[in-house]
This record gives sequence, structure tokens and C-alpha cells, in this order.
Amino acid sequence: MIDQIRANYQAVVQKIRQAESAAGRPSESVRLIGVTKYVDASTTQSLIDVGCADLGENRPQVLWQKAAELTVPKDFRWHMIGHVQTNKLRRLLKHRPLIHSVDSERLLRAIEEESRHQNCVTDVLLEVNVSGDENKTGLSVEEIRRLAKHCDPASVNLLGLMAMAGWGTAGDEAARQFAEVARLRDELEGELDRRLPELSMGMSGDFGEAIAAGATMVRIGSALFEGIPRS
Ligand SMILES: *Cc1c(COP(=O)(O)O)cnc(C)c1O
Repeated sequence: MIDQIRANYQAVVQKIRQAESAAGRPSESVRLIGVTKYVDASTTQSLIDVGCADLGENRPQVLWQKAAELTVPKDFRWHMIGHVQTNKLRRLLKHRPLIHSVDSERLLRAIEEESRHQNCVTDVLLEVNVSGDENKTGLSVEEIRRLAKHCDPASVNLLGLMAMAGWGTAGDEAARQFAEVARLRDELEGELDRRLPELSMGMSGDFGEAIAAGATMVRIGSALFEGIPRS
């Protein structure tokens, strides 16, 4: 199994490097977040062992359960990419994740409060509902503008934006939505007069388009686990 995962991982990394190059961007300007929500802890461990030091989970309780079982390298980082209920924050923040999925003001305020309690500064991205799809999570563009200006820098470090293309969106339409997110980020940098370096966008089916539009983090699951039984 580990050979299959190694082959998948190397193929995805190679495609990322090709997409960077095609977009005229520096090599290694895009970070691969391995999304392990489909697999158990031992398969997750294999992905770490072949070199993936950034893992994403979409459920906080799965993240901390796996964290207890895994052996991770020094530069390892957890990424929280799914909806977080505020009552899960205390245990989640102990793992010092980058939270990509800040999708409400209530959650942002709760992260600020819990970070103060734990005496840490939590790295966050604001999740944009760029497709305007009612069934999708994420903040509207207006809410993003407002919250970006009202984060407490002593407890949260706003690093940028996260987005998913709308359901069933691919190709040109995904590219258009990703470009819109990048433009919003650029506008916010002007309004805040500081850098927002991270754009988390692109999954197995659309990471090429996302990298062309400026993604700095791609969240990839299925492509890493092709040919591997799912848990
Ligand atoms: C599952 C998931 C991914 C990975 O999707 P794949 O299509 O399997 O690569 C990325 N981001 C989020 C938020 C997810 O829930």
C-alpha cells in the first residue's frame, strides 16, 4: 500500500510543480495539503511517511483522534478544512492547526476567545462562498470585508482566504471563481495595508486552475488515495 501512496503522492507533487511552472510561478510556491478524511490512521501515517507534512481533516474529532496515533516529523502541521463547532475548539486548538474554514463571525470570535485562554495566536483563513451557492458554507464577500478589518491580531493571525468552486463546477467556471477570490484577496490587502499571503483553493479535480489563479495551498484527497481502500 505504501508504494501506491508514494506513487500517487509523487505524481500529484509533479503535477503541482508543472502547474506552477505553466503559470510562471516559482517552484514550491504551492503547498500540498494532503486531505486524509477518506482513510484510517494507518493509511494516514503512510502518507506522512512518504513525505507529506501537511494534513487536512474536515472533522475536528477525527483530527485529534488521529493526532493521538500518528508519528509526525518536526515540521508537521495540521490543517482544519471543514466546519468547526465552537464546542470543539478547546481540543482542536491544542494541535495548533491552521484553520482554513472560518465560516462565521461566531466561530471567529470563539477562536479569538479560546486562543486567549490557551495563550496562543491561531492562524486562520476566512472561507469565501464565492459561488454564492446557498448550499455551500462560507462567508459572503461583504462579510469577509467586514471581518478582515475586525480580527483581534493578539489572538488570530489572518493569513488569507479559502474557497471551493461551486458544486459540479470545473474548467473555465472554476478558473473564473478562483480568479475572483484572488482579486478579493488583492483588494483586501490594499484596504488593510498588509499582506494576506495565503490562498487555499483547488482540490483533486481543479488544482491546476487554482494554481494558475494564484493558489498557495491546494487541498488534495482523492488523487492521493487512488487504488487505496477507503475506511
Ligand atoms: C474533501 C475535501 C477536499 C479534498 O477533495 P478531493 O476532491 O478529494 O481532492 C478539499 N477541501 C475540502 C474542504 C474538503 O472537504
